[in-house]
Amino acid sequence: MENCIFCKIAAKQIPSKLIYEDDDLIAFHDINPAAPVHLLIVPKQHIPTLADCTEQHAALLGKMALLAPRLAQEQGCGYQLDAQGQASGGYKTLFNVGPDGGQEVYHLHMHVIGGPRPWRGQR
Ligand code: ADP
Repeated sequence: MENCIFCKIAAKQIPSKLIYEDDDLIAFHDINPAAPVHLLIVPKQHIPTLADCTEQHAALLGKMALLAPRLAQEQGCGYQLDAQGQASGGYKTLFNVGPDGGQEVYHLHMHVIGGPRPWRGQR
């Protein structure tokens, strides 16, 4: 898609701090992080919003959701439960949808936001 910043990142036409790539997805560090760890998981296919997804995108969305814990773990904000059942770490996963959802880039992406609190904006 012409003039789509995430399509350009996926095509390596503009640089990013890439941390993951496969046939369907890329993931990179957000340029304006809201927390110590702020990742974006992005399909290579141009889909404007979550509201444009249909049953045919179920596997892709599942893949995005399953990648989040793996990348969070690798980037140092994974969720842990110790032997005493004490929980630590963790992150938010977030899709912003449309103007009232705060979406600014109209290419589907999942935010993964974590690390020790407090965070900017605490979203
Ligand atoms: P919001 O800005 O409200 O989070 P979105 O959900 O559309 O809106 O998120 C777009 C995200 O993309 C923002 O967090 C922004 O910082 C990030 N971003 C924009 N351009 C780039 C870029 N070139 N590289 C990495 N992240 C980017």
